[in-house]
This record gives sequence, C-alpha cells and structure tokens, in this order.
Amino acid sequence: MTSSTRSAPVPYFAPAITDDSREFWTAGARNELRICRCGDCGYYLHPPVPVCRACRSMNVAAQTVSGRGTLASFTVNHQAWSEGFSGPYILGLVEIAEQKGVNLITNIVDCALEEVRVGMPVQVAFEPVEDAWLPVFRPA
Ligand SMILES: [Zn+2]
Repeated sequence: MTSSTRSAPVPYFAPAITDDSREFWTAGARNELRICRCGDCGYYLHPPVPVCRACRSMNVAAQTVSGRGTLASFTVNHQAWSEGFSGPYILGLVEIAEQKGVNLITNIVDCALEEVRVGMPVQVAFEPVEDAWLPVFRPA
C-alpha cells in the first residue's frame, strides 16, 4: 500500500428487490436517495419496513432525503471474495444527515484508503447494477 492508494472498484452485486425496498434500490435512477419514513411521527426507518417502530403506524412510505451523511464506521476489505476483485475497497456504515441512528451499510468510493476516517462527511452517488441503483458514498 502506498500513500496514494485509492479504494479499488467494488465488485457490485444486484440486491433482491422487494415491494418494501423497491424505492430504496431504484430511486438512484433519478439521482435520489429515498428512505422509509413514518407519515405520522416523522421517524425514518431503514431498512425499509411496513410499520413504524417508533409509533406503530402503518402510514410509512419512502421519502427523498438529502443524500448527505457521516461515516459512522468503516472497514477496508482486502479479501478477494469473488472473481474480478482488483484490490482493497472500503465498506462503510453511513449515518444519514436527517436522523441519528439511521445507518446504511454501503461502499465508500473515490476515497484514498489513508484518508478515510470516522466522522467524515459523505455524499451519496449511485452505481447501476441490473435493475438497481446501489447507493454508495464519496467524501463530501
Ligand atoms: Zn411513527
């Protein structure tokens, strides 16, 4: 690893899309990050679920959020789990700006390995894979 090592291209896989998760996985086609939110109490819910865990309301639906967040944790993967692996990449836990504790497990892209840090501001981007647009994050 050199001082200019960048995160390698990630071997993306298409997710299994369900009715509850469809907006999350496909809104990237419109460059939008959509997170499930309760229409009664305003609580954000991720992964998407049909019932609000804060107030038990079933009035929940995906809502577009800013796409901004903070890197809450990360790890650098060096293991070649699949064919086509071309080097280390960053797996991140990103807390969305709209609500504490709403975290996305994602990839951190366009970031030098030696520059990634907890607390780093990040911004969503999207990677198309089959019918899905995977939300990934880059340094803001
Ligand atoms: Zn609620």
